[in-house]
This record gives sequence, C-alpha cells and structure tokens, in this order.
Amino acid sequence: MATNAKTILCLPGDGIGPEVMRETRRVLDWLGKKRKVAFEVSEALVGGCALDKEGAPISEATMKTALSVDAVLFGAVGGPKWDPNPFNMKPERGLLRLRKDMDLFANLRPATVFDALAEASTLKLDVVKGIDVMVLRELTGGVYFGEPRGITTLPNGERKGVNTQVYTTSEIIRIAEVGFELARKRRKKVHSVEKSNVMESGVLWREEVQKLHDAKYPDVELHHMLADNCAMQLVRNPRQFDVIVTDNLFGDMLSDVASMLTGSLGMLPSASLGAADKYGRRKALYEPVHGSAPDIAGKDAANPLATILSAAMMLRYSFDLPAEADMVEGAVKSVLDGGMRTADIMQPGKAKVSTTVMGDAVIRELDKLVA
Ligand code: NAD
Repeated sequence: MATNAKTILCLPGDGIGPEVMRETRRVLDWLGKKRKVAFEVSEALVGGCALDKEGAPISEATMKTALSVDAVLFGAVGGPKWDPNPFNMKPERGLLRLRKDMDLFANLRPATVFDALAEASTLKLDVVKGIDVMVLRELTGGVYFGEPRGITTLPNGERKGVNTQVYTTSEIIRIAEVGFELARKRRKKVHSVEKSNVMESGVLWREEVQKLHDAKYPDVELHHMLADNCAMQLVRNPRQFDVIVTDNLFGDMLSDVASMLTGSLGMLPSASLGAADKYGRRKALYEPVHGSAPDIAGKDAANPLATILSAAMMLRYSFDLPAEADMVEGAVKSVLDGGMRTADIMQPGKAKVSTTVMGDAVIRELDKLVA
C-alpha cells in the first residue's frame, strides 16, 4: 500500500450500522479502483457488538487506531439488548469516548434538499427547494458542560437545578474559524447565532466572532442573528443561510430544525472535527445522523445514503478531494432523480428498493461518470 494512503477506520456498530457501512465501503472501493485514490481501510467493533465480544463499548486497541487514522467512519450503535446495561456499559459510551478522546469540538450537520425529495418535506416546496445549509454546532463547551451544575436543596426545602453557560474566547474563536473556513469552501456567508440580547456569553460570542472576521476573514459575509429569530428564519426562508455557526445548546436545536426541512433521517450525514495539527489536519469522525434502527435491522431495508453522504463529507473535509465528493453526491442525486427509494423515503409511483439495490444503483451512477 502506498505510504501516502489515506487511512480510514470503519466502525459499523450495531443494528443497521453494518448494512449501511457495507454499501459505503463499496463506494470507497470504487474510488480506490476507478479514481486511484489510495485508501487504507481497517474495521473494528464499537457499541453493543464490542461489549459482547470485547467487554467494552470501545476497546483500547480500537481507540488507539481511531486516534492514529486520518478519519473515522461510524455507522450506528445501540439496541434493546443493551438497554438494561448500566450507564458506563451502554453502547453509546463508545461514541462518547471517541468524541471526547478525539476532542471533536465542531459538529457539522448539512441540510440539503434533493429536488427529487423536496416534496417529502413538511414545508412547502417553494420554501425548501434548493436549500443547502450547514449548521456548525460547538460540541464540547457551553451549558452542557459548564460549572457549577447540579441539583441542590435550599434551606427552605425547595430544590434548585443549576447549569451554567460558559464560553472562553479560545473556544469561540476555534469554532468560528471552522465556520469561516467552511464558508470559504461554500457560498462565503456565515450567520453567527447567539442570544446577546439576554446573555453575557452571547455578547462575548458576538464580539469575538466579529473580531476574528475583521482580522482574518473579511472576504466572508458575516451576519449576527439571535437564536430565536434563527429558528424562525429557518422555517420561513431557509435559502438565506449558507453556514450557521452557533453554540452547543442552540446548535442542538437548530441542527434538528434544519435537518427536518429535508424530510428523512435516512438521508442526513454529519461530521465532527477536532483541532488542526501543525499540518492543518484535523481529527475527524463522520457518521449518519440516524441511530441503529433495530426495527428494520437485518432486513436489507435501511437507507444507506446518509452514510454514503457522510463518506462524501470525509472526502471533502478530511481528504481535500472535492471532485470525488461531488461525484458521490452527484451519484446519489441521480439515483433519486431516477426514482429509486428505500422504504423510509418511499413516494407514490417510485420504485421501492432494498439497501443492497440502492448501493448497486449508486455504483452504477458512479460508473456512468467515468464511462
Ligand atoms: P433511529 O434513528 O435508530 O430510528 C428512528 C426511526 O427512523 C426508526 O423507525 C428507524 O427505522 C428509522 N430509520 C433510522 N435510520 C434509518 C435508515 N437509514 N433507513 C431507514 N429508516 C431509518 O432512532 P431510535 O429508534 O430512537 O434509536 C434506536 C437505537 O439507536 C437506540 O438504541 C438509540 O440509542 C440508538 N441511537 C444511536 C445513535 C448513534 O449511534 N449515533 C443515534 C441515535 C440513536
């Protein structure tokens, strides 16, 4: 294998994870063969299957590999079998450990509406058609982690719950930098979202983002928006957005709002990035937004497109292969335009196909691109 091969650790996980990962690996194999991209792909266990076979939701050996590769491609974890497990033996601990040890502070959730699926949205066609929004959520700070936190009992017997919203300048700057860099690869527009009207952390957020913009990214159009207005604007006029950069709490909600503009869970990719090293490379984990879907696992019925689109994000953001990323996304679009649907995105008059047949169709469209 060539020494400059891009190293990928695939972690299929549980439920439909292995099924959607199998189809995604076919796409990677295709790129290796037809586009001569050298990938060195390894595979390991995570989640419930790792608990069963290795005694932990992710083994130390797998963690070590995850920290050494160029990118991790993750399927999904969890299932009813492990629901009674204590907290530290839950399948999800594998994913949380990866996020923590790889210090993945930037979560990217694109919301793209494919024309062929625009009618599946709960919003009107003319509102959602053509939207292409990237929600960038800060993932390791803010109110979910701030101290003090907890529940105490007051002298009068009443109970008090406390969480603290905290952001430091360095935390704000590093997520805003990712936002501006992303915008430069897209339509060069950033909406920075906070609640500076009622929160000091929001005032600091707005000031630091503006300072960074003026110093390093004057070529990117910057808007500041309050989080409540952003939620409203996302459903009113989502096409106004390119990149939305926001904190952990608002990002949690806004990314879900944005993704539901697009229709189905089976279509949504995501990426989580860490800090850049001295060569500008970031630790990175790519995964579909959906879970392990135990209700359809093993039935060859899952939609593999969210994972395939996550791999396209990997090509774009970890490997700087925009042409190959465009090919994969273009193949997905063509398959949908051609009328193929897995059950989750089925529409009247379309052809309902299995996971495998959907994978076959993506490969066939890719073949057409190099024919
Ligand atoms: P889920 O995303 O697994 O499924 C929700 C619904 O969407 C189900 O009806 C499922 O069949 C459908 N669905 C999801 N992905 C699909 C796909 N690719 N193709 C077709 N249909 C799809 O969420 P859930 O049911 O709340 O959770 C199931 C398990 O997954 C739980 O154990 C949960 O903890 C776990 N989970 C894992 C992750 C992860 O690994 N990142 C995320 C969410 C939930």
